[in-house]
Amino acid sequence: MSRYFCSCSFGKDSIATALLALRTGEPLDELVYCEVMFDDAISGEVPEHRDFIYDKAIPYFEKRGIPTKVLRSIHTYVSSFTRTVSRGKAKGKINGFPLCGRCRIQRDCKIPPIRNYLNRQPEDAVQYIGIARDEQERLLRLKGKQVSLLARYGLDEQDAKTMCRREGLLSPVYEFSNRGGCWFCPNAKDRELRHLYQHHPDLWQKMLELQALPNKATEYFNRTETFTSIDERFQWMDRQLTFYQEDDDMMTRNQVERIREQYPAGTRLVLERMDDPCPIPEGTAGTVVAVDDAGQIMMKWDNGRSLSLVPGVDSFRREAPKQEPAMSM
Ligand code: SF4
Repeated sequence: MSRYFCSCSFGKDSIATALLALRTGEPLDELVYCEVMFDDAISGEVPEHRDFIYDKAIPYFEKRGIPTKVLRSIHTYVSSFTRTVSRGKAKGKINGFPLCGRCRIQRDCKIPPIRNYLNRQPEDAVQYIGIARDEQERLLRLKGKQVSLLARYGLDEQDAKTMCRREGLLSPVYEFSNRGGCWFCPNAKDRELRHLYQHHPDLWQKMLELQALPNKATEYFNRTETFTSIDERFQWMDRQLTFYQEDDDMMTRNQVERIREQYPAGTRLVLERMDDPCPIPEGTAGTVVAVDDAGQIMMKWDNGRSLSLVPGVDSFRREAPKQEPAMSM
């Protein structure tokens, strides 16, 4: 009897493929997941995605009778980074960062364990690959016993996403990225790097430490920048943000000053509407006592109460000046 397995990164397309097999009764014996490691202890998966895989997705499929085979290479990102180049112009240097578009990590950490696994499978084993029907180029690259269930059942990438979301199996990685992948990927977009910088400073620091290693064959993290220059750029962005936040505070202080100028102590106001569970009755007049630092107008109302007015929330107007009685001649 043939064996059926699904190559699963636990992104939307591969999860939807496994869900589709369960829903349609297509045979499925096992999910196969290859985890790239940063070093011997730290996963290369974005931490949110890694937690999702181990805490949610694997247990879900296990409960439904589909076990997951986890594969790992003996090589890690760090071992590949620090390995000495044995020939060519960079001979004697350490590898350094993998190149964009020619990722060495794929070659060292991903392909060998998958190849070993495939070699152990019977010849007629069928491999489901998570490729949607709208990914024509990738579909054309399928070979041998590789099958796209999504294409067979006419599902596109959006359908795959919807399917995962409905089942509560959409990885949180899609909240800040439109793809999975290693957190140290040289193809990462700024948004993904920024997420790492803000939410995983420990991992960020590890990349800065690698950048600081001497005698690297490549200094650049990606096509245009070193990791240090990305770090400096993000720090600069942070300083700009802080500057604008301070600027916002300045505006608030200026606004308070403007309210003080507009409504000096002694100004007479009449309430039109107050947003309060126990408001001052509409039409009540009162006298401004002062404006506090939050811009609220402290009042002494004619009915004896002292609830403050909040400009922009409550409505009020100046009391019309009293008419002088006409002099009778
Ligand atoms: S996600 Fe990026 S770093 Fe990881 S194997 Fe793929 S190309 Fe390489």
